[in-house]
Amino acid sequence: MAVGGAQSVLKGTGRGALPPMLEQYVALRDEHADFLLLFQVGDFYETFGEDAERCARLLGLALTHKSSKDFSTPMAGIPVRALDQHVERLLAQGVRVAVADQVEEPGAGLVDRKVTQLLTPGTVTEERHLTADENFLAAVATGDGYALALLDVSTGEFRCAAFHTRTALYDELARHRAREVLLAPELSGNAALLADFQARFPVMLSPANFEEAAARTELSTVLGDVPGTLGTPALLRACGAVLGYARVTQQGHLEMVRRVVRFEPGAHMRLPDAAVRALEVFQAQSPQGLTLMDVLGGTRTAGGRRRLRAWLRAPLLDELSIRARLDAVEGLTRTPDLRGGVRALLYRAHDLERLAARVATGRATPREVAALARTLDLLPEAVALLSGQDGLLGAVRARLGGLPDVVTQIRAALVDDPPLRLGDGDLIREGFHAQLDALRAESLGHRAWMADLETRERQRTGIGSLKVGFNNVFGYYLEVTGPHLGKVPADYRQIATLKDRARFTRPDLREREREIARLDAAAARLETEVFTELRASLGAHAEALLEAAGALADLDVLGALAELAAERGWVRPQTASAHARLTQARHPVVEHASAAPFVPNDAHLDDTRHALLLTGPNMAGKSTYLRTVALCALLHQIGSFLPADHAELPVYDAIHTRIGASDDLAGGRSTFMVEMNELAAILHGATRRSLVILDEVGRGTSTLDGLAIAQAALEHLHTTGAHTLFATHYFELTRLENDLPGLVNLHVAAEEDERQGLTFYHQVIPGAARQSYGVEVARLAGLPAPVVARAGKLLTALNTQGDDRKLVRELAALDLGRLTPMQALELLHAWQRELREGAELPA
Ligand code: ADP
Repeated sequence: MAVGGAQSVLKGTGRGALPPMLEQYVALRDEHADFLLLFQVGDFYETFGEDAERCARLLGLALTHKSSKDFSTPMAGIPVRALDQHVERLLAQGVRVAVADQVEEPGAGLVDRKVTQLLTPGTVTEERHLTADENFLAAVATGDGYALALLDVSTGEFRCAAFHTRTALYDELARHRAREVLLAPELSGNAALLADFQARFPVMLSPANFEEAAARTELSTVLGDVPGTLGTPALLRACGAVLGYARVTQQGHLEMVRRVVRFEPGAHMRLPDAAVRALEVFQAQSPQGLTLMDVLGGTRTAGGRRRLRAWLRAPLLDELSIRARLDAVEGLTRTPDLRGGVRALLYRAHDLERLAARVATGRATPREVAALARTLDLLPEAVALLSGQDGLLGAVRARLGGLPDVVTQIRAALVDDPPLRLGDGDLIREGFHAQLDALRAESLGHRAWMADLETRERQRTGIGSLKVGFNNVFGYYLEVTGPHLGKVPADYRQIATLKDRARFTRPDLREREREIARLDAAAARLETEVFTELRASLGAHAEALLEAAGALADLDVLGALAELAAERGWVRPQTASAHARLTQARHPVVEHASAAPFVPNDAHLDDTRHALLLTGPNMAGKSTYLRTVALCALLHQIGSFLPADHAELPVYDAIHTRIGASDDLAGGRSTFMVEMNELAAILHGATRRSLVILDEVGRGTSTLDGLAIAQAALEHLHTTGAHTLFATHYFELTRLENDLPGLVNLHVAAEEDERQGLTFYHQVIPGAARQSYGVEVARLAGLPAPVVARAGKLLTALNTQGDDRKLVRELAALDLGRLTPMQALELLHAWQRELREGAELPA
């Protein structure tokens, strides 16, 4: 974004010629050069100059012009009441927004304006701008490798990690779906690197401060000290940068940030972004498709949903932790009452984590504090439900029970159903604050006097139709209709004359009215004060609130996994040392989504058979089989039951996948290039403890190239000992079974029938497939009959060429010294027959 200044923002206009309001605009805009400034002018937020052009383009607004005698600038505005929806659209497009409001009542001169909100995609905290999922702001710095800091200001979650490679960093950033990424100057200053980052992430070029000294100040201000765990300068700088940036946008409020957690990327299973996408964990590859998250996501709270996403992003490596989660899921699966009770309770919970963060930063509205109380009310119930539980559920109970009684405090102060905004009054409960009660009682006295006034005046004047009314212009008034005007007493003063009636006031009426207004304003001020105090005292418990929120989120995820397991008859996986054995496994998403019955399959991998080569026609179910195994491994390591009759799985250090042909259009890489990049990463990264899923490797290039690459890759993986599932249409590869001891051929059953064509059984069985059925699948897909027939002929001819190559190989391998003339003649005869049959030549 161009740096501000009248010359660039309002081009073609000299600063001297600007009207005072635009002077003010330019000054505010220059102060927030990295933001799109929305400038309140009455009922509209306006933008001017270049910003107007940009805003009109981004929001599809009409561009107008603000002109005077010697001056003109483009202008685009949005109505004040439509601010939220437009801001949302700007944020979604990666634009930072500054909102400048009129902060005094318009009078004769220039109205004072101030920037009241700074909104950026990665730092918004208002519920209306947020989805229920996490909302991370990220910063990246380099030093010895890469350092990443992640901050979710809506919950206070603050994490950082160091990475050796850029690929690993990219994976982590993608997994956290950072909405805004800040780059240290050493990265943003390198054009190639910057472009690479920008092609993948919403990078914000901004003057975030990445200096080490500034980072130390920032960390000690926010956290109280500089945690020693951060270690490297790069980590410090990344953490300092996110905090500094967030502090500006939060206008100083970072109270919800309590600690920074340094996580070890190696402490969790490696799940590269390619695998997350290929396995459709969070995002389906087709618009209407379901994801694993959709199937698992029976969580009842927003916090639970975020926690489940976090578990899926970082599957466990530690066997004991996996077992602890599985124990808890099993406990809940086995006791429907407990599960039902927990889930019914969670149904009533609000987003405790975000409420806690908003209380901590002093932003919570009265209604949010009431929601907090309602949610906290549930905790003793939850503790009671979980009594007698040990393990993870016992730990959850302990974490839920550690909160002092703040509910009573809130309940005593706040009415049950407080208004949305502070300043609207009527939010503090009667009897809580003596002075407030007194003010209210006094105001009520005056109102009662007003209410009785009509009766009293009717009696006094004898005008039966006399009325007391109220409007915003005159306040309270007495109204008398035409025929009775003669009876109006002397102390009435006429203030308005209508066609057939007149309105009057009286000095004492005015007096009472002013008194009511004064008392109400004083009460409202006092209410705000009392509420602010309450909120601040709740803020002191922020840490305990966040702890309880975390426990509730864990409980929600465990409950959702148990519910799913119970509902769908999933089994608890056993953790094995080095083998995988799945009996009657199903694909969790396909099984759920498709109307046709799902055909379960077995899978068995161990040291003697660690590479499974899967052949079979297209559409037979190869991909589905591969993904089933990978998804089962993933479910095991998040501590979930899984869809099979029996499951034993090792703890994999990584799941690598290379599936399908995806073009990286944005990155400008061809399908084949993407495929090879991903394959390279897998071949470099896979270990004996990895699970590798390769589907149709080599498809993106010519047949021979593809075959050669596929075979070489398979051979390499075979030497690593990784559990490898390799689906291919290259039948030539099936003969590798003879050369590679750990490789086993499997195929998916299909049957070709004269009348019915091809039938798929989706059943995986031992041995190599007989043929590819590609032409038959093409026919099923509706290719015109003549094209199918021609393809069949060509296939035969091509197969013949294959035979030719086979004959050549046989010839080359002959040991002529050991051949008798008779044997030679027999061989020649056999070859000739094969050739003639293959080419359909006459005998
Ligand atoms: P391939 O990889 O062999 O081309 P896919 O795995 O893509 O085949 O599966 C093709 C279709 O068959 C998909 O629509 C899938 O839903 C269905 N399918 C695959 N496996 C099964 C199964 N075990 N049971 C039922 N339907 C299946």
